Amino acid sequence: MKIGFIGLGNMGGPMAKNLAAAGHAVTGFDVAAPMPEGVAAAASAAKAASEANVVITMLPDGAILRKVADEVVPAMRQGAILLDCSTVDVESARAVADQATAAGLRALDAPVSGGIGGAQAGTLTFMVGGSDDAFADAKPLFDIMGQKAVHCGPSGNGQAAKICNNMILGATMIATCEAFALADKLGLDRQSMFDVVSTSSGYSWSLNAYCPAPGIGPKSPADNDYKPGFAAELMLKDLRLSQQAAAAVDADTPMGRAARDLYAQFVEAEDGRGKDFSAMLPRFEKRGRS
Ligand code: NAD
Repeated sequence: MKIGFIGLGNMGGPMAKNLAAAGHAVTGFDVAAPMPEGVAAAASAAKAASEANVVITMLPDGAILRKVADEVVPAMRQGAILLDCSTVDVESARAVADQATAAGLRALDAPVSGGIGGAQAGTLTFMVGGSDDAFADAKPLFDIMGQKAVHCGPSGNGQAAKICNNMILGATMIATCEAFALADKLGLDRQSMFDVVSTSSGYSWSLNAYCPAPGIGPKSPADNDYKPGFAAELMLKDLRLSQQAAAAVDADTPMGRAARDLYAQFVEAEDGRGKDFSAMLPRFEKRGRS
């Protein structure tokens, strides 16, 4: 396939590299990042998009996605697929899909989980919104960049799945960290806490697979001085998107709101920026009841 790839940062760079290594003709554009191995440089987003069967975007947010869509949609071939893998608000995802469809294109929103490691290893999970036929045509690309692609329904549903998942993750990580801090103060050693909870009804991905306490459980960013991993500010971004979506549809999400507020405080008023989102544990350790 001919692929245009726009946004070649931490995630997009390795994803584009993997597509090129699998034999696809990839033409890339980024305002700052260098071209990954095997990717031909285009002079603009429109030039990267003009010959492509599929144009993939991996950009910071919805406003930038809308701007890039304004540039690439008029340049794309009829029937080509605009495949956005960024994490953006549901409204922008649906607006860009409508814009693409009105121009005779097909659109998929396909945010990912798996982080930079997953992008490099080609083991991302894609949550996909859009038509059946576009999903089927893009499936071989998902199979190169990831290990799983779930078709979640029409446009915007991929983003909806992503922010619901990360709302659960943010709240669960906070609950896990505060429970460890409480256990410490109650004199319960962390290994015992892990051994019990990881096999009891309090278990979760946050505890079992990504334990926020160092030295127990599987290796995680806690064992690497809380270097991300998944940075606290990216968690904050996703929690803000989930609250934006909840407000738009009048959904009551008190735990999601509390998680957003805590990560906002951690990142913006404390020392959380640049740390893994599981660094909530040392944060709680230092605090008393306020
Ligand atoms: P990044 O900042 O490393 O990459 C974004 C790239 O977009 C940058 O290289 C930037 O120069 C480029 N860009 C910005 N405006 C542009 C424009 N107008 N035209 C062309 N290029 C432009 O970010 P990232 O970590 O690669 O994340 C990308 C997306 O993936 C975000 O939406 C993020 O929320 C999501 N995501 C990231 C992770 C992660 O662990 N990093 C995990 C899951 C999802």
